Formats: sequence, structure tokens, C-alpha cells
Amino acid sequence: MLAGLREVLDPAVAAHSGVGAFNIICLEHAEAVIWGAEAANLPVVLQVSENAVLYHRSLEPILIATVALARNADVPAVVHLDHVTDVELVHAGVALGATSVMFDGSRRPYDENVAVTADVVRHCHKHGVDVEAELGEIGGKDGVHAATARTKPHEAQDFVADTGVDALAVAVGSSHAQTERSTRLDLGLVERLSEAVDVPLVLHGSSGVPDDELVRAVRAGLTKINIGTHLNATLTRSVRDALTDQARLVDPRKYLGPARDKVADEVERLLRLLSKSG
Ligand SMILES: [Zn+2]
Repeated sequence: MLAGLREVLDPAVAAHSGVGAFNIICLEHAEAVIWGAEAANLPVVLQVSENAVLYHRSLEPILIATVALARNADVPAVVHLDHVTDVELVHAGVALGATSVMFDGSRRPYDENVAVTADVVRHCHKHGVDVEAELGEIGGKDGVHAATARTKPHEAQDFVADTGVDALAVAVGSSHAQTERSTRLDLGLVERLSEAVDVPLVLHGSSGVPDDELVRAVRAGLTKINIGTHLNATLTRSVRDALTDQARLVDPRKYLGPARDKVADEVERLLRLLSKSG
């Protein structure tokens, strides 16, 4: 069933456990994430990023398909728009049935980020939609998600109070699009942030973080764990192997089907790992 973000994160916070949030690029991703969550019998977040929307040249087909899969799921499934910088896209997503939005104003000056994020929160809350956001750029060319960037607890506290967001993305040592799983996080900072801030904390760029560190991160106070690249690697490895082994394959179902099963298995495994962290 379609669920709200806080509906899924609040029980996880109370249980000191984590919830997996997986990026959806194509229909097979959405199917795999739902099937994996059903196999684990655990709630899940499906995220469609602004970049995925640009790839499809349209929001509607990929979002409506994802909402349909979530609605028909046997487990609570949040449909979340990820890294949205365009306020119009927030409005369109809310109108089409997204239950959660990550508004990314991190490239804007702090005061403007606060003002625009607060506007997004007002609009979304009117429609029963939760909002995740992040503070401004704090170092590195990858901004808030550079491995060297760190969120300051007092700034996080002010940002949440000034914007009214429902979840906060924090910079604690991870960065996006990592294909090696070897990142170590600043777990002391995670603990300080979770004491300072009274909304669930979100880890972006979790693909580069190994299983044992993800477990420690959840224990330290992170709740929503965003995983994109790692599932893409799983999907692509399977497709590459199938095409290498069977040079005459032409039917996409013959290589996408097994790849989708591999992604579903990995989603199931990760959801179980994160849920048991507490
Ligand atoms: Zn991210």
C-alpha cells in the first residue's frame, strides 16, 4: 500500500532501525524494489530523482507506474521524488500521487534555501506529503554530499526549525555514485546530529558504504538509507554477464528478467540488514 514517509520512518526511529530507499530509473527497478520489499515483508521507499525524470523527458509515465506498483504492494511503500531542484516538479509530483519529496535547495544561498524549502513544505503539507531537505553547500564540488562535507548540529537544528521539514539529509562522510563499498562514516557526528535534530536523518550516497558500516550508521541514528548506484551495479552486472554469455540474445526479457530478480534479492537482503540494525 502507498504510504507516507514519516508513516514509515517514525516506527523505524522508535525501533532504532533503518529503512531502505532505492532509486528507480526504469520500470524493472520499481518492480524489483517492490518484490524485494514484499519478500522481506518490510516497508520501503521508492525514489524517482529529478535526473531520472530528465532521462525519461517526462515525469508522468515513470511516476504513475511507480505509484501504481506501490499502491498494489503488500507492504507500505513510499513514492518519493529525489533531489528536486525545480519547485514546479514538486507541484507536478504531488498532483500525480507522490507521497514524499526531497527538495534540494543546497545550491542556493542559505537564506534562499530556507525560504524556498519552507514554501515547498507548506505546499506539500497541504496535500499530506512529507518533505526531506538538506542544508547548503558546505564544501567540495559535490556540495553537501562531498565525502569531506560535514553538517553542523546547530545549523541542522536551525534549518529544521526554520523550514518545518519532516526529514533531514545530512553530510557525514558519504558521497554519491560510489562503486566501491569501502566508505567509513563520521558516526560520532551522526550521534550528535540525532540528538540535536528531532526529525529522522537521511544518508545519501550509501552505495559506497559497506554492510557493517550501514548497520553502525543506523545504530548511531540514521534512519532513511538511500541506495542507488549499488542496485544499478547489481542490475548491470547481470545484464553484462547474460549478454557476454549469450551473444545471440535479442529479447530484453531474457536479460532484464534475471537482472530484475537479482535486484529484488539485493533489496530484500538490504532491507533485512537495515531493519535488524537496532
Ligand atoms: Zn542523494
